[in-house]
Amino acid sequence: MTLVTNLGFPRIGARRELKRVLEAYWRGEASAAQLQEEARQLRLRHWQLQRQAGAQVLPSNDFSLYDHVLDAAFLFDAIPADYRRLADADPLAGYFALARGVQKDGVDLRALEMTKWFDTNYHYLVPELHAGQDFRLRDDKPVAEFLEARAAGFDARPVLLGPVSFLLLSKTVDGSDRLALLDRLLPVYAELLAKLKDAGAEWVQIDEPCLVLDLDEAAHAAYRRAYAALAQAARPKLLLATYFGALGENLDLAAGLQVEGLHVDLVRGKEQLDAVLQALPKPRVLSLGLIDGRNVWRSPLDNALILARYAAGSLGAERVWLAPSCSLLHVPVDLDSEKSLPADLHGWLAFAKQKIGELKVLADALDGEASAEAALAQSRRQLESRRQSPRVHKPEVAARLSALDEASARRQSPYDARRAVQSQALRLPAYPTTTIGSFPQTQPVREARAGNKSGKLSDADYEAFLEAETEKCVRFQEEIGIDVLVHGEFERNDMVEYFGEQLDGFAFTRQGWVQSYGSRCVKPPIIYGDVTRPAPITVRWSRYAQSLTQRPMKGMLTGPVTVLQWSFVRDDQERSRTCRQIALALRDEVTDLEAAGIGVIQIDEPAIREGLPLRRADWPAYLAWAVECFRIAASGVADRTQIHTHMCYSEFNDIIDAVAAMDADVISIETSRSRMELLDAFVQFRYPNEIGPGVYDIHSPRVPDTGEMVELLEKARAVLSPEQIWVNPDCGLKTRGWPEVRTALTAMVEAAKALRAAA
Ligand code: GLN
Ligand code: ZN
Repeated sequence: MTLVTNLGFPRIGARRELKRVLEAYWRGEASAAQLQEEARQLRLRHWQLQRQAGAQVLPSNDFSLYDHVLDAAFLFDAIPADYRRLADADPLAGYFALARGVQKDGVDLRALEMTKWFDTNYHYLVPELHAGQDFRLRDDKPVAEFLEARAAGFDARPVLLGPVSFLLLSKTVDGSDRLALLDRLLPVYAELLAKLKDAGAEWVQIDEPCLVLDLDEAAHAAYRRAYAALAQAARPKLLLATYFGALGENLDLAAGLQVEGLHVDLVRGKEQLDAVLQALPKPRVLSLGLIDGRNVWRSPLDNALILARYAAGSLGAERVWLAPSCSLLHVPVDLDSEKSLPADLHGWLAFAKQKIGELKVLADALDGEASAEAALAQSRRQLESRRQSPRVHKPEVAARLSALDEASARRQSPYDARRAVQSQALRLPAYPTTTIGSFPQTQPVREARAGNKSGKLSDADYEAFLEAETEKCVRFQEEIGIDVLVHGEFERNDMVEYFGEQLDGFAFTRQGWVQSYGSRCVKPPIIYGDVTRPAPITVRWSRYAQSLTQRPMKGMLTGPVTVLQWSFVRDDQERSRTCRQIALALRDEVTDLEAAGIGVIQIDEPAIREGLPLRRADWPAYLAWAVECFRIAASGVADRTQIHTHMCYSEFNDIIDAVAAMDADVISIETSRSRMELLDAFVQFRYPNEIGPGVYDIHSPRVPDTGEMVELLEKARAVLSPEQIWVNPDCGLKTRGWPEVRTALTAMVEAAKALRAAA
């Protein structure tokens, strides 16, 4: 019988139960025992659900109260010295201090750095290591959760983050080599594996996703050393799990490691199957990642079946297991709870539970069960309905895409010529001041939006409320002397959702939550069809705000790449094609804003960098279409219209050419935290257009004074020419309160004045 296995399940709960209890615990409203009990029930419910959906091999230790990389660091006692006292006295408090920082009873600890888990929208905490670090087993979470599953009648396969990936995902605080710690770490893995064996685990899934990255010789050597050492241990059999891409040139390395099974991603790395079958030594098991663990679509089961049959024919059926491409962490739990999606679209989707069901169908088909036929036929019908749906395919969009040419992605004149016209039109002072768009989303603003959504607040009253908020915001900016104003974005819930809701081709779920980090979840829109813009989106608010003031009002849009990155995207066409469609819809919005008298328009692209492919070799192609899409959106306007963009991060060195190629007239970036360090990239490259290096870190409640901002701007002035410099905060102000914003922006305007006076 073909085995249906799973690599990991969403932890947060179909109703975000984990989020609720975590936040109650942090507020002091739930006890540690209540938190642990809810977590236990979630694990149990998820094992039941996976079993019922058809999985025979269920993951354990895939659950985490916050993050699985932090779990590993904590388990191996990789705890920085400052946190140790707390972690020893109260492990749970120590764990959450690492995750979120604490400021209480004289303890003041920052959170560990957080970063993206490969190219997903999940974020992990980066373990902090140092040379000569000791590791030991601090607790027995993997064993305890295995036994918990067993006690409930489930035969689980514990999941561990592998030692080499663990080190490669960590950083050292002293600049020493992470991999030098391997020999200290391996005995702890061996000890843990022995404990799992004693507990009765037959297999352990050992995740080494770093095997799909570009690796140097040192990493290769570390892999060989690690798995040779673990081969000596009394341990369960190991399934080495790789995902998020093909093994590529690391295939021989992976196939040569001393483990009993290999999992490969056949969704992103479909083409690798033949090579893997060739390379895999006997009698190793191959786990086929056939179903997309990162997206929400039903799978083309016939295609998956071809691959599975092919692999079974080559290796023998008993050496082949079926699995999702990666952990299902990245998709919502259960499509059955979506009651308001259009029926056809509903039929095209599969969430975590449904994906396991698809694997079960494949297994039945491989086993020759007659019942599989009906399910396969059903899946075929759904795919066919999607392929032919007028909701998905719109001839006018296809026509517009094929009419795109080089000129569609080019402003009328080069930057120097635009600059001259714009400065005539805008008449801004030196060091012009502006903000990034949003102003505080206060409780009343959120309540009004919720009230309007639930029908308690009429549309007319809601509009009137938003107009009043916008006017207050405009008056405030005039009063303190900002040069280029914004309307405040009070009408927006989220920078992607707001646009998606008003574009055709996007759908929204009720419960389609996925974990972003810790208790934070997002509900990404689903882009299912060709994108069109039935009506203008932001023009009404920008026009209203401009009518209140003589100063330039900046229009605010979310850029095409960011909309794409933060959504579930179509799997029936290239990402680049979907992105071009969004770009065209936004281009219409940009030209409509211009026609409505808006002379400055900002197209935010905070997600350009995070869209970078995992492999360096794939970067140029991605950057080419990402830049092109931005330019399509931005290039429909006359030279006098000033296009801004905004990016809220600080690593530009390796993509600076692409950022420059976007050819925005002005770019604002996050620089205050790094004390303008990242401006280096802009200097070495001699960035040609204007730049607003952020002078106010909006992620912190701390308010810098004028002197501090002047100092930062002087650093910027040392490396950029004065005519290039804008003065603005690091990012939008929506998470801040009005008192801080008032003080900080007033100080910011003073800083700009000080610079002008000194010129
Ligand atoms: N315009 C958005 C805002 O000000 C930009 C947010 C972002 O870059 N993430 O909130
Ligand atoms: Zn930002």
